[in-house]
Amino acid sequence: ESLFAELDDIPLDPHYALKEDFSADPSPSKVILGSGIYRDKNGKPWILPAVKEAEEIVKSSEDSGRYDYLPIPGYAPFYTAARDLLFGSLSSPEDNFVSVQTISGTGANSLGAHFLSEALKPSAVWLSNPSWVNHANIWKSVGVPVRSYPYWDPERKALDFEDMIQIISQEATPGDVIVLHGCAHNPTGLDPTKDQWRTIANLCESRGLFPFFDCAYQGFASGNLDEDAWALRHFTSRGSMELAVAQSFSKNMGLYGERVGALHFLTASPDAARKVKGHLLRLQRGLISQPPKRGAKIATTILKDNALFPKWLADLREMSSRIKCMRQALYDELISLGTPGNWDHILTQIGMFSYTGLSPEQVECMRTDGHVYILSSGRISVAGLNNANVKHVAQAIDKACR
Ligand code: PLP
Repeated sequence: ESLFAELDDIPLDPHYALKEDFSADPSPSKVILGSGIYRDKNGKPWILPAVKEAEEIVKSSEDSGRYDYLPIPGYAPFYTAARDLLFGSLSSPEDNFVSVQTISGTGANSLGAHFLSEALKPSAVWLSNPSWVNHANIWKSVGVPVRSYPYWDPERKALDFEDMIQIISQEATPGDVIVLHGCAHNPTGLDPTKDQWRTIANLCESRGLFPFFDCAYQGFASGNLDEDAWALRHFTSRGSMELAVAQSFSKNMGLYGERVGALHFLTASPDAARKVKGHLLRLQRGLISQPPKRGAKIATTILKDNALFPKWLADLREMSSRIKCMRQALYDELISLGTPGNWDHILTQIGMFSYTGLSPEQVECMRTDGHVYILSSGRISVAGLNNANVKHVAQAIDKACR
């Protein structure tokens, strides 16, 4: 008898299960709109032209030490440039910040959760309902009770802001952590307005909640890096709160598999920053020892090269504007088919994802009748749409809604 015989069976992660089912489907017209990976207008992976150039520059400067370890906190030019991209011109003294390179956004969320669970011993972490599925997984694994605040209103297919504020004000306790999506909320594609962000910041301040921003899509939502960092910078400009940020370059540089990201803390004093850094490095040592080098060098080259940086901005605009066009195309097809229901939210949502509001039964129908594969939550990755498949997807949605 195995020591593991009593373990629960864990179902395959829904993204991987979806991919497996999709691969096994022989239909030539099949479409998958699952993972958040950008695809170009031909449905192919897209290596950003700025990344291609940066690869060449990195290659030409490589020496025999290229496979050496990085230090435990990672590549310093990377995590300082990454910090400045997020926070803009620093509104607090530089010594109050702590930055560590991580295994992309997932690693940043995970390292942050490990640290905050030990340092703050929060009675709960508050996640939006729904949130990126891995948030709950990460926080459960560090033993912090997961609570959720209302976010998606299925009736109105809009942000449930009043309930969100009410539940947090009534039920969150000082010292709790609240996870906030910096922009392009995954999975709903709905972001608070600037006024709503001000209210959320007031609430965090008055209730003594610790804001943990997850910024996986900076530049990908509006196409503008500063606009997409507005919420975070609003919090920091108040000068009243300590906070953390998990940052990913998977989407905005298309460096998915290179695992490029960082975890940042803004603390109230240089002494606090020094202590936080010590604990983050202790945890990092135990979890991964040192982060990987190559992707961080590519990202740094783009962030610091005056000729390359504007090319990256153009790449971001290309991706975000193609996604916007595909939202419009899907909307137009649904309207011309007269598909029952209101589809305005497809246009008002932003970023890579759209929460369609389709039920699990409708999602199943799209798969069996239309060979269109989306998550049972009804989330579609708009980046997977293109001129060749959008009509087919709209027809599958239409059929499922009748
Ligand atoms: N956070 C959010 C909200 C995400 O949507 C994702 C990716 O889908 C991530 C973090 C982490 O991605 P990665 O680990 O590839 O940076």
